[in-house]
Amino acid sequence: MYKDVICERVALCKKNEFPLMIHEFKNSFFVLGDHQFYKGYSLLYLKKHIRELHEMPKSEYLELSDELYQASLAIEKTLNPWKVNVMCIGNQTPHIHWHIVPRYEEDKNHKELPMYDVTRGEVDLKDHSTQYEEVKQLIENIKSNL
Ligand SMILES: [Zn+2]
Repeated sequence: MYKDVICERVALCKKNEFPLMIHEFKNSFFVLGDHQFYKGYSLLYLKKHIRELHEMPKSEYLELSDELYQASLAIEKTLNPWKVNVMCIGNQTPHIHWHIVPRYEEDKNHKELPMYDVTRGEVDLKDHSTQYEEVKQLIENIKSNL
């Protein structure tokens, strides 16, 4: 049976065992993305397993919106991108999560939707290794801007 990777990650975050964790909010975990093709690409995982935003109690949805606001602002302050894209899609993993994708003018496709093209040489952090000094530093920098 297919297990939702986000459920697994939320479980790791709850045990404080997810190395790419940036910050724990009341309703969500703010984590750095596995891929850093867009430097600062990060996600906000809702703690509860809920499929659609409109299935959340409205008060929790509004709190989550505030957490997204803080996370997006921290990415802006840390990386000074041209634009911050935020997306809540979840077709592959129907557990509410937001993608926070800083976009840079140097990217010739910066006016297009963000694409996760694995051929473009991004850092793959799928092994959740924290050996990358650059990644640890980036997480610290984002934390300092929350
Ligand atoms: Zn889930």
